[in-house]
Amino acid sequence: MVHNASAIPEKGDALWRLSPFQKGISRQKSMTFRCIKQDKDIIMTESEGELFDLFGLKRENVLQKRIEEIFPKEMADFKKEMYERALNGESLTYEAELNGIPFLTAIGPIYKDGTVSEAYGFCVDLSERVAVETQLAESEQRFRSLMDHNIDPLFSLDLDGKFTTVNKACTVLTGYSETELLNMTFDPFMMPDRKAIAIDQFNDALKGNSKMHEARIRHKNGGTRQITFTLTPIIVLNKVIGVFGIAKDVTAKREAEKELRETKDLLESVIYHSSDAISVVHLTDFSVKVNPAFEFIYGWSQDELTNLTSHILPVVPEDKVAESDRLMTIVKHGGYVKGVETIRLTKCGKRLNVSLSLSPIYGENGEVVALSAISRDITDKKLKEKALKESEEKYRIIAENTTDLIGVVDLDGNVKYVSPSNRLLLGFDPSLYDGKKIQGFFHSDDRPKVRMAINEMVQTQKPVKFEVRCKHAHGHWVTLEANATPIANDTDQPDSFVVVARDLTERKKTEEMLRKSDKLSVLGQLAAGVAHEIRNPLTSIRGFLQLLQSRASGNEDYYEIMLSEIDRINSIVGEFMLLAKPQAMNFTQTDLRQLLRHVISILDTQAILTNVQIYFECEPDLPEIWCVDNQIKQVFVNMLKNAIEAMPTGGSVHIQLKKQDNHVIASFIDHGCGIPEERLPTLGEPFYTTKEKGTGLGLMICYKIIENHHGKIVINSKVDEGSTFSIMLPIHKNKPLSS
Ligand code: ADP
Ligand code: MG
Repeated sequence: MVHNASAIPEKGDALWRLSPFQKGISRQKSMTFRCIKQDKDIIMTESEGELFDLFGLKRENVLQKRIEEIFPKEMADFKKEMYERALNGESLTYEAELNGIPFLTAIGPIYKDGTVSEAYGFCVDLSERVAVETQLAESEQRFRSLMDHNIDPLFSLDLDGKFTTVNKACTVLTGYSETELLNMTFDPFMMPDRKAIAIDQFNDALKGNSKMHEARIRHKNGGTRQITFTLTPIIVLNKVIGVFGIAKDVTAKREAEKELRETKDLLESVIYHSSDAISVVHLTDFSVKVNPAFEFIYGWSQDELTNLTSHILPVVPEDKVAESDRLMTIVKHGGYVKGVETIRLTKCGKRLNVSLSLSPIYGENGEVVALSAISRDITDKKLKEKALKESEEKYRIIAENTTDLIGVVDLDGNVKYVSPSNRLLLGFDPSLYDGKKIQGFFHSDDRPKVRMAINEMVQTQKPVKFEVRCKHAHGHWVTLEANATPIANDTDQPDSFVVVARDLTERKKTEEMLRKSDKLSVLGQLAAGVAHEIRNPLTSIRGFLQLLQSRASGNEDYYEIMLSEIDRINSIVGEFMLLAKPQAMNFTQTDLRQLLRHVISILDTQAILTNVQIYFECEPDLPEIWCVDNQIKQVFVNMLKNAIEAMPTGGSVHIQLKKQDNHVIASFIDHGCGIPEERLPTLGEPFYTTKEKGTGLGLMICYKIIENHHGKIVINSKVDEGSTFSIMLPIHKNKPLSS
């Protein structure tokens, strides 16, 4: 193979200056040769050197032989032409390959007496150069990969500021691809206000100065990055042909630095403004830094705390030095001390209760270089705690020993505390409230009322009072009178309250009894007085009537009626007296049906006058009952009279007589004005009447009588619809003992 024939620019001895790398192959294998021209043939006259053998040539086949005889045809033709030119006076070089060995030949004429007598040639082995070239290519690739894999952006710019090389890191930094970058200058990356500076820096580098700069550049996505970069001139043959740059993305670093700076400022400000005393003692030189709060609390100023000879500050009292030493040893070994309550001394010698926290401060190499101490004056807090403890103890004693019920409940009804008196009042252990809501212990009818009271308490933040029925362990209801007081806390809204409750059941009963017995005794006295006064005139009237009757002629019936009515007055008066003092009752077996018929006949006239119809129904086979018949008659009269009077404009009254279980029930059903619900409990109290000429004594006497018969009066009534009074009387087999 033949390549690269080129003329040597200068004649003569310039052979070894062909190209710089040939110096590098001076130790290569070589050979020399001479040839002459004989007629038209070129004859090899001399051939010597290491290369000769490598070419696979043999002396006897070369010397004095024609070129055509030595080399293969193609090579021979080429060589003949080259040698011919040399023999004609030309100096030249060419590259070729023989026997697999690349070689370079330089050949030139040798003059004798002004004419070319022969040609002289020199061959060198080029195999090494090929290897070097391969090596060069490899090292270039290595450089390329080194550049590409460098984490820092590397680039070169030509004299116009255009990118000529960029590595991968450049594409990451800018967001542009390699091809895009290689068509750009650095200009679009510069922030507008920094362009002039950038151009100056670039020109400075072109002048041969290598320097480091910092700038904010624009990313393809519109964002910015902070970089540092060094520009170095590229000098080839004493000429600057461009600039080489190494950049570093310092965005994260700068941000971290900024954050660090801000944190440091913040920390300093916190320390400066903290109301806790803060001191930092260095372990090597015992230098101290304290904050204004330290100076204020302990009275020692920063300036007075120089020249310390130990890390124990003068605020540590004598008796706490050992403790302080112990704590500091912990911290020196990297431990922390939190909220230790101890004593510290002010400059004037006042002892303060403080809460102390210590922590280590680390140096660059991770060793503890200083200790920080934060202390808070808790003298006041301590005093308050003591007072609180005392008052808590006081309240605890009260709560544990009271017979009233004391409890603390949150707004959801969870019981936080309840006094032991709960056992006394409601019969169960306070632990029964655990995990339950207090509402569950209330009578369901009372829950809305209690909820309203508690809402009012929350809104007004004032105590409220309410009554509530609570279930006793034995199943009955206990009426409690409760006071709920909101517990003040930090927020506006209280979240719990204290209840103090007391049993009202007994009180209610007593009150009721007092109220009724009061009226009864008044009435009793009145009745006894009146009855006595009436009885005497009645006795004389009855006597005279009987006298008149014995002499009368005609109208005998009237005397009979008058006498029986006077007897009735007498017995009524007697009953009045019965209220005042108990009397023996004369029980007889009575047929109530007959008794009722008699009652209806008495009131018939009144009924007709007010346009009222009376209907009477009776079950067959009704047993007779033991009773004081006059008294029961009086009850029935009262009942029927009230029913008639409830219907001033007329209507109907139904009277039913029936047996139920062990009772006979007489019901008086009217369709009159009815009784308001709230009045029902007061029926039976004396002097309660809604009638103009009423006495308000009727029902009271009825109750008394029925009670004496061990019976019951049940009232059902609805306003404007009517009332039913049912009188239940027990059926006894034998005559009951009078009471
Ligand atoms: P008086 O009949 O003298 O008023 P009572 O003791 O018999 O006294 O009755 C008391 C009150 O009870 C009456 O005034 C009336 O208001 C009410 N009352 C009793 N029975 C009835 C009834 N059947 N319907 C409506 N109200 C009644
Ligand atoms: Mg009446």
